[in-house]
Amino acid sequence: MLKGKTALVTGSTSGIGLGIAKALAEQGANIMMNGFGEKDAAMAEVKAFGVEVDYHGADMSKPAEIEAMMQAAEKRFGAVDILVNNAGIQHVANVEDFPVDRWDAIIAINLSSAFHTTRMALPGMKQRNWGRIINLASVHGLVASAQKSAYVAAKHGIVGLTKVTALETAQTGVTCNAICPGWVLTPLVQKQVDARAEKDKVNNEEAKKRLLSEKQPSGEFVTPDQLAALAVFFCSPAATQIRGVAWNMDGGWVAQ
Ligand code: NAD
Repeated sequence: MLKGKTALVTGSTSGIGLGIAKALAEQGANIMMNGFGEKDAAMAEVKAFGVEVDYHGADMSKPAEIEAMMQAAEKRFGAVDILVNNAGIQHVANVEDFPVDRWDAIIAINLSSAFHTTRMALPGMKQRNWGRIINLASVHGLVASAQKSAYVAAKHGIVGLTKVTALETAQTGVTCNAICPGWVLTPLVQKQVDARAEKDKVNNEEAKKRLLSEKQPSGEFVTPDQLAALAVFFCSPAATQIRGVAWNMDGGWVAQ
């Protein structure tokens, strides 16, 4: 379905981003990857689908590096047709104790980076009259949890950016939507499981159960593959009139 298209997925060396990169590659899209950590192993997983894969190591907290990445993607593949703003970090603390540098980093990586990639991707998408922008928000773009001020502010912000971008592109072939996952067991969440295990003096499995039971009625984690299938759907012709939604996949979290 996506043969001949190019997707840029930020933060695709791990977790949800890697799952989405693989699913878009399975549909035939060439992929520009980004993120820190085990890039070679992640690239190999995506290349296994027989598409062209490249990587740019831009730090999503640095606008100049984001600009360089967008230019590199256009130079390498001729276009960015699908933009998945996925890179994100978390920090947990009460507002009065929240480290200022963590606040700034979360706003920069989880919110401002999507503004920079979007503003650079839109002219080409509009010119070609086709584009898909998919923002990885969170249930925390819809509701709040204590101790996550920066994350909740950034995720509510990215839902707002999604809606504005959707309105500005409403009469074009470009769509912009957000995906709002509940708990997904990735390295970002494993850190919170570890902290819970330590705090409650319980093992890993028990800590996972406790985290899930507080917020996620299904009692099960959402998987990167399930989220990736939704991203693929947003890229399909059937999704052409889905514009500006913040679509939760959360085991019932925000239904409560
Ligand atoms: P993860 O930690 O597995 O992956 C995060 C990715 O972002 C990695 O590739 C990492 O290298 C990259 N990254 C981090 N800082 C970066 C920076 N400064 N520049 C470039 N890349 C950077 O996390 P994940 O759980 O897969 O999260 C992906 C997205 O999904 C995030 O936006 C997160 O907020 C969101 N999300 C996750 C969950 C969850 O339960 N895991 C729930 C809702 C939303």
